[in-house]
Amino acid sequence: MSFEEYDDCFIWRCDKCRHQAVFPPGNFWACVAELKARRWSFTRDDESRVWTHYCWKCRNAVEAEILNMVIPPRRRGVSE
Ligand SMILES: [Zn+2]
Repeated sequence: MSFEEYDDCFIWRCDKCRHQAVFPPGNFWACVAELKARRWSFTRDDESRVWTHYCWKCRNAVEAEILNMVIPPRRRGVSE
């Protein structure tokens, strides 16, 4: 679990670097909106129904990895 709710705070934890974001309790959705404003990523796996949270730094790293997979480096010039 990367989200924990306590009597006195909400805590989100980045699933990659374990960075924590702590908010006062009360408005869960306001906290989510704040994290989204900070470019945290929230994704849910449809099969396992497990949420994954990434802080903005790890989100950038993950998105860069995906971009590298989708757009492979140009290799044509090497083999032709
Ligand atoms: Zn992170």
